[in-house]
Formats: sequence, structure tokens, C-alpha cells
Amino acid sequence: MDIPLAKPQLTEKDRQAVLDVLNTPKLSLGPKLEEFEGLIADYTGVNHAVAVNSGTSALHLIIRSLGIGEGDEVITTPFSFISSSNCILFEGAVPVFVDIDPDTLNIGVEKIEEAITENTKALLAVDVFGQPAEWGKLEEIASEYNLYLIEDSAEALGAEFQGKKAGSFGDAGVFAFYPNKQITTGEGGVIVTNNDDVATLSRSMRNQGRGEGDKWLQHERLGYNYRISDINCALGISQMERIDEIVSRRAEIAESYNQKLQNVSEIQTPLVSPSGKTSWFVYVIRLDDQFTRETRDTILEELSQRGIGCSNYFTPIHLQPFYRKRFGYKPGDFPITEGVSSRTIALPFFNEITEEEMDYVVGHFKEVIREFK
Ligand SMILES: *Cc1c(COP(=O)(O)O)cnc(C)c1O
Repeated sequence: MDIPLAKPQLTEKDRQAVLDVLNTPKLSLGPKLEEFEGLIADYTGVNHAVAVNSGTSALHLIIRSLGIGEGDEVITTPFSFISSSNCILFEGAVPVFVDIDPDTLNIGVEKIEEAITENTKALLAVDVFGQPAEWGKLEEIASEYNLYLIEDSAEALGAEFQGKKAGSFGDAGVFAFYPNKQITTGEGGVIVTNNDDVATLSRSMRNQGRGEGDKWLQHERLGYNYRISDINCALGISQMERIDEIVSRRAEIAESYNQKLQNVSEIQTPLVSPSGKTSWFVYVIRLDDQFTRETRDTILEELSQRGIGCSNYFTPIHLQPFYRKRFGYKPGDFPITEGVSSRTIALPFFNEITEEEMDYVVGHFKEVIREFK
């Protein structure tokens, strides 16, 4: 068997939607862009959605729209994909890491206040693996210290915290649509916000800083080409039409893995917080402390050799080579993040995975971890 870690689900209808755009002259800034943005805004329950060419671009535009820059600090998590922190560096601000909660794997809210200084401008929290962060507490802290609150919901389309959709918390949030996310546009991302200024500035900056309604070659501010094509948006629209089905199918797969793994005493299956609804992005188990990072890596290799796509979600951001070089971080700086990340294994997880494939994964997984214990 050869089972990938992730795989987009593409239907005949998805393909037709893309072909239909190719029969029109509007390949960019056309009707599919607006339609896609409308669907995302409605689904998330926010006033504005601004679609761009990646989740990273979306994060960058939020940081810029909020005027976060040189000399500012942004409190965030080291247990994430690199761009939730890089977007802060893009603008010359400094990411200040706070270690995670060992259960939810999201930023440890009780440790945030001690990291706040007079230079702190914002909190940027991530809904890791599709599990919403503690938005109630985060909103409290942001409002008490007068900080912007940014939601990296790139992995959490469809998740909820206390009945509200992920992406709708704080000043602005993002979703991302790379092919391993809940829905895909090939490449793409979107800013979701109730803040009119963030929406207007993001729209302008994604399109070279043009003003609204301005002539094509009039530029009001520094901007970028972060546009997403209507071809990508058509795929996004088609995928959004079955978002509920996708979210529940993924929950079903996670539940099925939980069942199949329940008697494996050497691991911990993913914990879900009681205050939210998870929208499953990946299925990540944790080996217990009798395993070292080296053993985990050997297990990953062995699983790959058996045709099982797997990965070590995530490598801590502060230990990435250029973060170490630039900020002097070293192992031991964020022990919970490091401990967790040295024992994670993401198993194959995608809408169309079959029961037979999951049995193959779990069967080999059990065999391999017992061999290398
Ligand atoms: C995927 C992801 C992003 C970035 O999205 P891209 O579209 O790949 O740029 C940002 N943050 C997190 C947590 C992600 O998982």
C-alpha cells in the first residue's frame, strides 16, 4: 500500500467549476473572487473576507494593516507552522514566544501576561491542528492590555469556540487553502475580519496598493501582488459548497482512528477541548516519554518505508535554523513545545481514506512502535 499523509478531495464538479472559468475572459479580479469571498464571510459570520494567494500573504496583510512594525512585539506560539511567526518578521516586528498548553497544544494563556512588555502590540494565536485556542481568555487579555488580537485559523476552517466560528475572533483572522487543508484552492488564503480598515487596506495591498475605484495605474500605498485567480476561487467555491460534509467526514475519520488506537498504551490520541468544536486538519498522536526524539524519527522512517505517509508536526519555530541564529534560541527555551514536538506523529488523514487503509496504518503503527520501544 502507498497511503499519503494528506490528499485533496477533488470531485467532477470541482473540475467542471475550474473549466467553466476557463471559458470566460475573467481569470482574475472577476466574479468568482467576489463569490468566494462572500461564501467565506457568511460561513465564518464576519463582515469581510479578502481572498489572497496564500495563508501567509493573508497573515502578512493583517500585520501590515494593523500598523505593526519596527520595535513592536507580538506574542505568539512556537508550536505552529513557520508563517504564523514569519509574518511578524516581515514587518520588522519581533515574535515573542509563549509556551503551549500540554493538552490542547495551543498557546498557554496563563503564561501570556508575564510576556507582555510596553512594546507588546498584539497577540497572535493559532488554532493548532484545527482545535480552537482559548479565545475567551485571549479576548480578555487583549482588551485589558489594549492589544490587537489576530487569529491564525489556517488549520481550522469550520472549527468553533463557544458556538462561534474559528476565524471570527479578535481583529482579524486567516484561513489557508493549500491542498492539505480542509478545503483547497490549489494555493490560496483569505483574511476574515469585522474591521473595515483592515479589509480596505488588505484589498488595496493585495493589488499593488491601488486605491478603491482608482485608476489601474494609481497607487496609494506600498502594495504587493497577492491576488488569487478566479480559477483558484472557482475551485474554492465548489469545495465550500460541501464544507459541512467535509468537516463531518474528517471528524468521523478521527473518531475511527481513536477507536482503532484505544488499546495502544504507548500513545496518547489527540485531545479535544471541551469548549470548542474541532475541525480536523491532521490526526496527530503522541508517543509517551519512554520514546526519545531519535526513536520517533526512526519510527517515522520505518512507517514511510511501509508506504505510510507520516510526519513530525511541528518542529518548534524557535529551533528553526534562522530563528536560532537571529535570536539565539536554544533547546530548553520552551520545554513543553519541545517535549511535545519530539514525540508527535501525524498519521495519514484525508477525506477519502478508507477503513482498510486506516487498518493498514494502525496495524503497522502498532508493530513498529513495539519494535522500537
Ligand atoms: C498552512 C498554514 C499557514 C500558511 O498557509 P499557506 O497558504 O501555506 O501560506 C499559516 N499558518 C498555519 C498554522 C498553517 O498551518
